Amino acid sequence: MKIELSNKLKKLPPYLFIEIDKMKKKAREEGVDIINLGIGDPDLPTLKPIIDVMAKEIYKPENHQYPLGSGLLEFKKAVSDWYKERYNVNLEPASETMALIGSKEGIGHIHLAFINPGDVVLCPDPGYPVYNAGTIFAEGEPYFMPLLQENGFMPDYTKIPVNILKRVKLLFINYPNNPTAAVATRKFFEDTVAFAKKHNIIVCHDAAYSEVYYDGQRPLSFMQIEGAKDVGIEFHSFSKTFNMTGWRLGYAVGNNEVLAGLGAVKENIDSGAFHAIQRAGIAALKLPVSWTDEIRAVYQKRRDTLVAGLRSLGWKVESPKAAFYVWIKVPLKFSDANKDVKSISSELVKFLLTKCGIVSTPGVGFGSSGEGYIRMTVCAPEARLKEAVERIRKVW
Ligand SMILES: *Cc1c(COP(=O)(O)O)cnc(C)c1O
Repeated sequence: MKIELSNKLKKLPPYLFIEIDKMKKKAREEGVDIINLGIGDPDLPTLKPIIDVMAKEIYKPENHQYPLGSGLLEFKKAVSDWYKERYNVNLEPASETMALIGSKEGIGHIHLAFINPGDVVLCPDPGYPVYNAGTIFAEGEPYFMPLLQENGFMPDYTKIPVNILKRVKLLFINYPNNPTAAVATRKFFEDTVAFAKKHNIIVCHDAAYSEVYYDGQRPLSFMQIEGAKDVGIEFHSFSKTFNMTGWRLGYAVGNNEVLAGLGAVKENIDSGAFHAIQRAGIAALKLPVSWTDEIRAVYQKRRDTLVAGLRSLGWKVESPKAAFYVWIKVPLKFSDANKDVKSISSELVKFLLTKCGIVSTPGVGFGSSGEGYIRMTVCAPEARLKEAVERIRKVW
């Protein structure tokens, strides 16, 4: 029998992190002591009070059945309370919040609710690959908006051609941003609401890193902007905030019609998030902010160590205000010495892996506008970050 993949699947680039994982495994098999600054996955454990709740809830038979629906009302109330407390935003729990099996799940499925073949989806470039993947699965057309350093890595809506604008149905934005670590300004969010209203575009704001911020500067929620709830929704994740990547829990909030559309898709393909996990999620949302302050303090210290270390090599590196990434312009010294390569970001990543045993991510893997940059995470202990810098110093 001849087994052939769908055209949609063939259209997708190989999922970035799977490729990097292969490279990493190979080096490890060769006995290299790898420092992994590649994928954004917290190395710290899930906060203990959350695990304690899970340990109790998992024994309760009432948690063992199909969860169904858009989330436990208690969970939805906890989300709504958290938004009120954190942002002073009012959300009606039943219709304006929705549990997700990780935010990636909702981000990947929402297209199926709104995209017909040929509809255009605006995706940031560089950007989280799932915005594009969901577009392709729904037979939509991605239009990539370059995120340029000179614009603070925010897209310039005025550069989108009129003939494209007519076909746009969905817009993805993501702040604090992966991979550039940029934070959105209030003005940008306000422009986004106006732009969406004018062109009848649904806004999906991915706020996975809202709680990973530095120097006490808390990023805005898109929902804090007047009119935001009329035009879109915001995705949140427990993964980065509470070190819960493996648990698979997230949520979306905002426009009730948009959420109802996403809910209708989900009813047909999943059966909800495990109730025990939702109950652990409630405990997470109710934790005093001091718990997440501690996580932020750890990342901030690591950020300072990595940024100072790279600068000591003569690299020009901006210190991120949020997210656990450092977005690094490929140093001139390296690009001057490697003029003929197809992708300078991939070349530097290869150099760091083969010469230093360091895994990083090439910017081009997030889209063509990411070329010329690499991404390092601070999801590794400080000693390893220092070691990484010293390994580079030896061969630089
Ligand atoms: C990590 C990440 C997510 C996914 O989070 P989950 O809730 O674990 O699915 C979503 N968006 C961005 C930009 C991310 O980096």
